Amino acid sequence: MTYVFNPAPQVVVPTSDGREFPVRRIYCVGRNYVEHAQEMGFSGREPPFFFLKPADTVVPVAEGQTGAIDYPSLTQNLHHEIELVVAIGKGGRDIAAAAAAGHIWGYAVGLDMTRRDLQGEMKKQGRPWCIGKAFEQSAPIGVLHPIGKTGELKSGAITLKVNGELRQKGDLAQLIWNVAETIEHLSRAWTLQPGDLIYTGTPAGVNAVVKGDVMEGAIDGLGTLRVAVK
Ligand code: MN
Repeated sequence: MTYVFNPAPQVVVPTSDGREFPVRRIYCVGRNYVEHAQEMGFSGREPPFFFLKPADTVVPVAEGQTGAIDYPSLTQNLHHEIELVVAIGKGGRDIAAAAAAGHIWGYAVGLDMTRRDLQGEMKKQGRPWCIGKAFEQSAPIGVLHPIGKTGELKSGAITLKVNGELRQKGDLAQLIWNVAETIEHLSRAWTLQPGDLIYTGTPAGVNAVVKGDVMEGAIDGLGTLRVAVK
């Protein structure tokens, strides 16, 4: 086989045990904390829904380092959404919630960066969210921690500071659809495979960042994710 050009390198996320997790797809859950759903103008009682980002939107950031993203084109309103990221290690379809933990490789702190103005315009017109959500460098992520070390995460503080000021604060126990239920719903619609990442939704307090801001996200047991906007 001769490629027409060299294929893009495999996207990877470093793991806390010194390896690299090869990324296949990035699934994201919309409006999965009640107060965030309400701040976006919804009741918080709708079934889970999903969108995707391309794998190469990932920006891996090592623990203790400050990653960087470029302020993206076309937007005047770049928002942070701090999220628990679940990494799938064993694929499957129609996975029951009770069996979901067996499909999880591990967890990380992630940011679902959003061009809110473009997303809002697409929503208003009933068009896909891609331009608001699936742009380059829109999925920063910290080190992945294996479930064997963390245990199954069902609660724990999730926070985001910008320039040291607290912007978002919640608890994983407040997820409307918990991780197991999310995997159950998601695996009815798509066949999950090893390498898939699931951004599980953000708590209330989403807001804008500008060039020069430094975001610092944290989840109990998963360390911190620090990212500067260039
Ligand atoms: Mn999100």
